[in-house]
Amino acid sequence: MTMPVQNGKLYVVATPIGNLSDISLRAIELLQSVDLIAAEDTRHIRQLMQRYGITNKLTPLHQHNEADASEILIKKIQQGLSLALVSDAGTPLISDPGQPLIKLAHNAGITVSPIPGACALIAAISASGLPVSRFIFEGFLPRTSSARKSFFQEKLDCPCTWIVYESSHRIQATIIDMAEILPGQRRIVIARELTKIYETVVNSTISQMVELFKTDKNMQRGEFVIIVTGAETIDKNKDISVEHEKMLRTLLKECTIKSAVTIAVELTGLKKRTLYQAALKLADSR
Ligand code: SAM
Repeated sequence: MTMPVQNGKLYVVATPIGNLSDISLRAIELLQSVDLIAAEDTRHIRQLMQRYGITNKLTPLHQHNEADASEILIKKIQQGLSLALVSDAGTPLISDPGQPLIKLAHNAGITVSPIPGACALIAAISASGLPVSRFIFEGFLPRTSSARKSFFQEKLDCPCTWIVYESSHRIQATIIDMAEILPGQRRIVIARELTKIYETVVNSTISQMVELFKTDKNMQRGEFVIIVTGAETIDKNKDISVEHEKMLRTLLKECTIKSAVTIAVELTGLKKRTLYQAALKLADSR
């Protein structure tokens, strides 16, 4: 159902993340009908507008001007103008500009209406096959290797699935850093070039992913979403997680089974019997 554009209202419009057909009918109508479109890159959005025969006024709103430009745009909306906010790709504000504008709009009592559509992280998790009833989106990873490793260290025990964006410049280094900190058998999905010709969704372990990036150089090209499963959630009476097993293994190198189990109970809060059985299995397999 089409809804007429309202004066004095701000619309947040999702645009495609690659395939230009991934835009809603409502988004097309709205981009044609609003008084003004605020775009991250006005040249970039023109390709989409040309494809759908949209002719409308554009104004730039990007990370370098959004503090000042947002205030000016809010005044215009208060005077009765209808405005659509778009970013270069996907959903505005998701690792994209727009937060100051939307915040100011709420403060000014302006109605903000989302026009939903493509978003790389949502597209990636829907095709990942990983547990996603709970997930954390962390945006872009730090650029340096040491900062990335600290980030992965913090994530080691995170119980739910987490997601990051990464660029082609750093993707291989990122996977190698990840393999140094997280258990090699942890499952990971890399969603590359979603909705485009070379779309690839790989679900494997972290160790297998390191090998894939070494052997297939095409994997390093394009745009990436990385999804990592959380530390295994476990039944306290049944089994122990990979991380807890790693800890127990380390303790067993230095202590007797009894001491290792006592320390592990204190550190993990797991049942003594569970840890004792796991410790016996580990000691047997040495
Ligand atoms: N606002 C966008 C969204 O809704 O997903 C994200 C913008 S952010 C500046 C760009 C990053 O999103 C890329 O570096 C990449 O990590 C991810 N991304 C965007 N398009 C993608 C695609 N087609 N396939 C995989 N990842 C993509």
